[in-house]
Amino acid sequence: MSDQNIVIIGAGHAGGRAADALRTAGYTGAVTLCGEERHPPYERPPLSKELLFGAIPHEKTYLFPEAYYAEKNIALKLGVAVTAIDRQAQRVTFADGSTLPYDALMLTTGARARRLPLPGGDGPRVFYLRDIDDTLALREKLGEGTRLAIIGAGFIGLEIAATARKRGVSVTVIELAALPLARVAAPEIGEYMAQLHRGKGVDLRTGVKVTAIEDTGSELRIMVEGGEPIVADYAAIGIGAQPNVELAQQAGIECKDGIVVDQFGHTNDPKIFAAGDVTRHLNPLLDRHVRLEAWQNAQNQAIAVAKVMAGGDQPFSEVPWFWTDQYETNMQMAGAPDRWDRVVWRGEPTDPGFTLFQLLDGRVVAAVTINNARDMRFGRMLIQSGKIVDPAALGDKNTKLQDLVR
Ligand SMILES: Cc1cc2nc3c(=O)[nH]c(=O)nc-3n(C[C@H](O)[C@H](O)[C@H](O)COP(=O)(O)OP(=O)(O)OC[C@H]3O[C@@H](n4cnc5c(N)ncnc54)[C@H](O)[C@@H]3O)c2cc1C
Repeated sequence: MSDQNIVIIGAGHAGGRAADALRTAGYTGAVTLCGEERHPPYERPPLSKELLFGAIPHEKTYLFPEAYYAEKNIALKLGVAVTAIDRQAQRVTFADGSTLPYDALMLTTGARARRLPLPGGDGPRVFYLRDIDDTLALREKLGEGTRLAIIGAGFIGLEIAATARKRGVSVTVIELAALPLARVAAPEIGEYMAQLHRGKGVDLRTGVKVTAIEDTGSELRIMVEGGEPIVADYAAIGIGAQPNVELAQQAGIECKDGIVVDQFGHTNDPKIFAAGDVTRHLNPLLDRHVRLEAWQNAQNQAIAVAKVMAGGDQPFSEVPWFWTDQYETNMQMAGAPDRWDRVVWRGEPTDPGFTLFQLLDGRVVAAVTINNARDMRFGRMLIQSGKIVDPAALGDKNTKLQDLVR
């Protein structure tokens, strides 16, 4: 492997972890990590939390100190996008016209914030949040008393709302669905989060459809169907992310809302692998392909695929896991269910902490903890085991979860 040449496209969380994991796995050939952003690989979770609040400098989000890459003999090519992959010639082309050959390629191009496809969705007072520069630009606007309208009550929208409230911003959240987190969480959790935010002074408006954003020059008028415009100084859009698949698509790599890979990260080209948010990967535990936008997946899938590229044979196989922090509330979710037929509460929503399980045919398919992280480990184990569980025991806090796993 020492004379091999691996090129990684996308110097984000997955790309950075993959480069490091190649070295840890003993791979001694060339590694070039290519990213279009000017920053070295960094973690995104603090972007809508500590960095937006102003509690940390942006360098704190970096995966490794910049000098680390040189120490590990990893070439960093930053600030320039890869624009084409020539699979026949095994060569990539950059926006500046330069090219680079590869023996094996890893695609970790991640995802980007979905743009609001409405008039005014790209105006100067409208912000999106995907990278460090987005956060720094929005942060500058979040002063005491500023009026911020957030469109979308998914994780990013709610995290921005929580951070903005902590900075004294007056926040209105506008959501089309009847509840927050409608695409990703059980309605019981959406209801809980709605109450949390309303209790912190957020004007949360659900079931409201935005039709346009008008910029008067001094403020925004968010036009909504069947109601008065919502007036704000700025808007932040959190309506989901879309995978950066175009480069792969143009090269003829199979994509389906994500680059399609197996549990080893193989695409339909044996020389090309992929990991992170950009993939729709086979999860052997769930027995289906999933596309996840989560820290754990970016990190661990990238490491697993890098090990395969370095000669290993272990699949990436984990129960999906995600967390979010809003105000003093920590929420964790395991599983990625597309359906369930029953929920079981372990604790009450009025308790300081509780867990909600989602079951299908008697098996746990998801676990959500609110300020109750200690249940998460066993929640994941229950999902992984696929065991039929007694709902009464599951909901009884006097029954140890580990006893149900056994
Ligand atoms: C604001 C925010 C908060 C989050 N909070 C949480 C959280 O609390 N918990 C959690 O579990 N997850 C969270 N996530 C999700 C998590 O950060 C992502 O899942 C993770 O960053 C994905 O890593 P990635 O490397 O696949 O993609 P990315 O981190 O998006 O990196 C992809 C990189 O590839 C680059 N790139 C794309 N195309 C090209 C090209 N053609 N040439 C060169 N470079 C290219 C991009 O510029 C980018 O730098 C959050 C995400 C965001 C945006």
